[in-house]
Amino acid sequence: MGLPRVAVFSMGGTISSVASGGKGVEPTLTGEALVSDVPEIAGVAEVSAVSFRRAASGEIGVGDLVELAAEIEGRIDGGAAGAVVTQGTDTIEETSFVLDFLVDREAPVVVTGAMRNPTLPGADGPANLLAAIQVAAGDAARGLGTVVVLNDEIHAARFVRKTHTSNPATFSSYPAGPLGWISENIPRVVLRPTGRHKMAIPEGAQDTPVALYHVALGDDGRLLPEIEAKGYAGLVVEAMGGGHVPSVMAETLEDLASKMPVVLASRTGGGEVLRSTYGFVGSEIDLLGRGLIYAGPLDGRKARLLLTLLLQSGATTEMVKETFDTWLGN
Ligand code: ASP
Repeated sequence: MGLPRVAVFSMGGTISSVASGGKGVEPTLTGEALVSDVPEIAGVAEVSAVSFRRAASGEIGVGDLVELAAEIEGRIDGGAAGAVVTQGTDTIEETSFVLDFLVDREAPVVVTGAMRNPTLPGADGPANLLAAIQVAAGDAARGLGTVVVLNDEIHAARFVRKTHTSNPATFSSYPAGPLGWISENIPRVVLRPTGRHKMAIPEGAQDTPVALYHVALGDDGRLLPEIEAKGYAGLVVEAMGGGHVPSVMAETLEDLASKMPVVLASRTGGGEVLRSTYGFVGSEIDLLGRGLIYAGPLDGRKARLLLTLLLQSGATTEMVKETFDTWLGN
């Protein structure tokens, strides 16, 4: 029996960034170059590499991911045991989250990158790519949806977050923790997330820009009316604490919520938005009563992407509410 087939899609980022005549490093290496730099891969899987994009990860949009998801499904249907996506770490928590909704297959989809570019001592790209291919080629992560593998840890796309600008141990899944790890080249999955929610974006779907608004001390919300004026289709409010905004914003948010879905998330980075604790104007009880939608444990960035996908798939506000309430599976 031959080795399992793994499709690698490179999208740029630090893992592929070398000096190219300009001031710093830039994402220029091809997928083929990344793979051929790690001879150990040849003993793990039969890899075909595609240079899907060569960009800093802030250039990637939902449209790119819809296209990528279709290519990944095509490769899996064609016999690949799994797929690996290499890209910039800046947006891995977002791209993996989107792929988790869009790719509807049991085979593992593994997103990886690097914190130290190939020109630096201790570059982590080769080890991360090898580990990602080991996870994609094996059975341990089957049925888990999209995972992120870096620094020998396996994280669920739904929880993973970048927590440091330069440390190779930047990825965390607080408060859940990683699903598993890779030890002596063996991927081990010890936890499996509950529930899975898939979404299909119809061909020719409208662009549905969703704004993300981070609430801060003393903010009077004067930018909020611009959100409708600028043509946004939805809004995510990353509010203080358990879901609180200065009282001066409450009426404007209620008005916006009568015109577009407005999702209430927390800026704290951990825990769920509250539903029934505080009653002051601008509190979670007040805002949910004014029609804002509960984001649960999703941070603003992930909530924004879930709302974007829902709007692109044609969901009504009721369906948006229902999905935010149930996507965790319990
Ligand atoms: N610093 C980034 C990275 O880790 C650059 C990017 O996200 O493209 O790859």
